[in-house]
Amino acid sequence: MDLSELAPGYIRAIAPYQTGKPIAEVAREMGLPESDIVKLASNENPLGASPRVLAAIENVIMELARYPDGNGFTLKTALAARHGVGLEQIVLGNGSNDVLELAARAFLMPQTSAVYSQHAFAVYPLATQVVGARGIEAPAKDFGHDPEALLAAIADDTRILFIANPNNPTGTLLDPVQLLGLIERVPENVLVVLDEAYTEYLPEEMKSDSVGWLKRFQNLIVTRTFSKAYGLAGLRVGYALASAQVASMMNRVRQPFNVNSLAQAAAVMAMQDEAFLDECLAINRAGMVQLTDGFKRLGLTYIPSYGNFVAVRVGDAAAINLSLLKQGVIVRPVANYGLPEHLRVSVGLEGENKVFLQALERALKEIKK
Ligand SMILES: *Cc1c(COP(=O)(O)O)cnc(C)c1O
Repeated sequence: MDLSELAPGYIRAIAPYQTGKPIAEVAREMGLPESDIVKLASNENPLGASPRVLAAIENVIMELARYPDGNGFTLKTALAARHGVGLEQIVLGNGSNDVLELAARAFLMPQTSAVYSQHAFAVYPLATQVVGARGIEAPAKDFGHDPEALLAAIADDTRILFIANPNNPTGTLLDPVQLLGLIERVPENVLVVLDEAYTEYLPEEMKSDSVGWLKRFQNLIVTRTFSKAYGLAGLRVGYALASAQVASMMNRVRQPFNVNSLAQAAAVMAMQDEAFLDECLAINRAGMVQLTDGFKRLGLTYIPSYGNFVAVRVGDAAAINLSLLKQGVIVRPVANYGLPEHLRVSVGLEGENKVFLQALERALKEIKK
């Protein structure tokens, strides 16, 4: 018997999420030492985590036999103070990926739909499909979210509009005026899930007052993560801010201990270490210039990005990617995002960016031959 037949059709139809290749796997496959591999594939923080965060984690290690605080009181208190919201407005997640799914599981079901943009983060269609809802993809404009197309795509049965701002993998952004204009026009019976995984990287004038908007829009859910600018991707911690009613629904479908104790302690300390965050942002700005200058030198176009990554148009991306892998450089092909000629590269340290650009130049020459 084919046991996969026991799963609903909408589960069988799911295409598995493609993660960045792990360093050990590429080292094994290409016969290279792990220390020679440069991984710029998952928008991870090239500086790692702050030393103060690592110390905070060590303090919790002795308590690993205990369950974490299922209500995340200390972390929620710190987040509430930071954002000026009530504890009842916060939903903690095992990464923000988790809270995106909590929103889908709380508010979507078969016979409902969710809207998201073409080229938008792959988790939105996945989270929608898992609960048997219908995904509606609105066409992008200049690789980014098109407010008019998103509004036009909203159907009678739509419960969630997902917006990634900035978006991954394109790095595109709706500025505060565009974003507010969009949210104002979304019907109040449609939840707006505003995914701000990269918001820390934005220049001040491009930062939306999304948390402030929660007072006006009961249907708004803002999601954030400690995985990117704070360098804690491996620990898995993120959160959503929403109206108390919406947060309460999301918390009902949450696993009681979905955020582990190391992650909770690390997130609290990460928010305090502003000097480390500033250093990460400065390295990202410099690395972005280094990469985009390199692309210009190589005659390549790229999608201007507001994140810690950039999508560059290389032509035969699959072939270029293979050549890069053979040279020990891991980036992310984005054909599954409808971008078969682009590769997404995360901003690394200066030396890593340099190795990548040199490998890219070699790959381009090789493919031309
Ligand atoms: C990386 C990313 C996330 C979430 O990552 P977590 O590690 O699960 O917090 C969410 N949205 C976008 C657009 C991302 O790129």
